[in-house]
Parts: sequence; C-alpha cells; structure tokens
Amino acid sequence: MKEVVVLSGKGGTGKTSIVACFAVLARSKVLVDSDVDAADLYLLLQPEVKEENEFWSGQVAFIDEEKCTECGLCQELCRFEAIQDYTVDPISCEGCGFCYQVCPVNAVTMHSCMAGHWFTSDTRYGTLVHARLGIAEENSGKLVTLVRNKARLIAEKGDLHHIITDGPPGIGCPAIASLSGANLALLVTEPTLSGIHDLERVVSLCRHFGVLPMVCINKYDINEENTHRIENYCYSEGIEIGGKILFDNIITEALAKGLPVVQYSNSKVTQQIEELWQAISTELDKQDK
Ligand code: SF4
Ligand code: SF4
Repeated sequence: MKEVVVLSGKGGTGKTSIVACFAVLARSKVLVDSDVDAADLYLLLQPEVKEENEFWSGQVAFIDEEKCTECGLCQELCRFEAIQDYTVDPISCEGCGFCYQVCPVNAVTMHSCMAGHWFTSDTRYGTLVHARLGIAEENSGKLVTLVRNKARLIAEKGDLHHIITDGPPGIGCPAIASLSGANLALLVTEPTLSGIHDLERVVSLCRHFGVLPMVCINKYDINEENTHRIENYCYSEGIEIGGKILFDNIITEALAKGLPVVQYSNSKVTQQIEELWQAISTELDKQDK
C-alpha cells in the first residue's frame, strides 16, 4: 500500500479538484481529506456518512461558582486573559492549568473538550475518511494523524493499494502531520511568483521529512515564463514534474456540478490529469522494486 499526499504552498491552486479526479482514476484506494480546518473534498465526492466520531482534544478550565470565593487570583494570573468575572471563556482558555494550580479553594477543574468530529463515509469512488475541526479549535495536527491512521487501517483490511490524501495548504502543523511517512507528495503549484516561493517552502518540508516530492504545474499556460522558472527550479533540484495542466473553465463548470472534471468531460485537461495519475502510479511502482 502506498500513500500519496497532495499539498500546495497556499490554498486555491486546484489541489482538491485534482484529488477528486484521482479518486475516479485510482482503482484500489482509500481517500482522505486532511484539510480539517476547511474540508471541501466532500463537495466533489458527495459522501454518505457511515460512521461519525467525536474528537476530544485539549483541556479547558471550569470554575465552580459555589466553591469560588471571588478572590480574583486566577483572573489576575491567567496570562491569556481567559477569565472574566470568575468565569472562564473556553475559546480564550489555552488549558495551561495554572488557575487550577493556584486556586486556594479548589474551585477550578480541568475538562477535556470536544474539538470536532471525524467521519468514515462511502462515496461512489471508495471510502473517504474526513474530519471537521470545531471553530477556533486547535490540535488539527492530532486530528490529521487520527484520520490518516484510520485510513491506513481501512486500506490494510481491504488490501487496497493506495491512500490518497488531500492535504491542507501551507507548511504548518496539519501539513506536517499529513506529510510525514507518506510515499510521495504531489505539490500543486501555479505559475506565479508567490507560487514559486510557496513551492520552494513545501519542497523544503518534504526534504526535511524524507518524502519524495513531485510537482504539478496547474494552469501552466497563464504565464509561460513563470512555468519555465518552475521547470528550471525542479530540474536543478532533481524533482520530477509529474504533469502540467492547462487553464480551462471546464474545471470550474465541473466544480459547479459537483463532479470531478474527469467524469464531467473528455478534454485536454482530463487527459493531462490522467497522465499525471499515471506518472504518480509509475513512481510508486518503482518504489516496490
Ligand atoms: S487554564 Fe490557563 S488559560 Fe485557561 S483559564 Fe486557567 S490559567 Fe487561563
Ligand atoms: S482563584 Fe479560585 S477562588 Fe479565587 S477567583 Fe479564581 S476560582 Fe475563585
């Protein structure tokens, strides 16, 4: 079983549309949406939720008003200013437990908090494991690890060949949690100056975690000069360009219909995405030899 994670230096590069196409093209796979802060792969895969689970993470303080003598010590010492009028604001509370330690009458208790949900769903293309983090909740890296582990179990049980993960944009904690241990990272970029800079950052992340990077230049024809820059950069770094995809409104049309573009039309773009998946499969097969 091989795991491919699709990443981009920033949002809006077309990463999710490409993953949805891989969902159609890969024959034996589990799908993962690890962009838990802004999951949107489900819009294209229209999952039917089979299993819903709570995600508990972190702690918040709670003040028992019956025990509290209103001495004010905790709100004076809370450096996150999470306590006002002897009540804890759970959004501001960082769960450090200092108020719990200092309260002279043991009026403070620490509670685990429900930070989101994760789901196992059926789609017409296979099983999708996805999640939703609560508003203002942190620990997205932990939730990403959880959904990836679940996907791995499903793949092992079903003897499936691929785990295909739609990763979060950027190079933060959830991107790291999505990347580590994967067999290949497909980095989707666009030919803009900021796109090149973002690409370099994600490549560094891949190198740090020992994950093979492969690049896809999306909308390569909107700026051929920058596309050449990306190609030169990849060449100098020894990074394979798995594919280049034309700008085509057909992708937006397919999105509006809630369909992966390879199911919506038979165009040059769909052919390019098919070739991209072929390049990924070939690279993964090589890793077996
Ligand atoms: S746990 Fe820490 S952050 Fe939360 S209210 Fe207490 S002192 Fe403030
Ligand atoms: S330290 Fe304890 S008693 Fe004092 S205000 Fe806070 S909760 Fe109340």
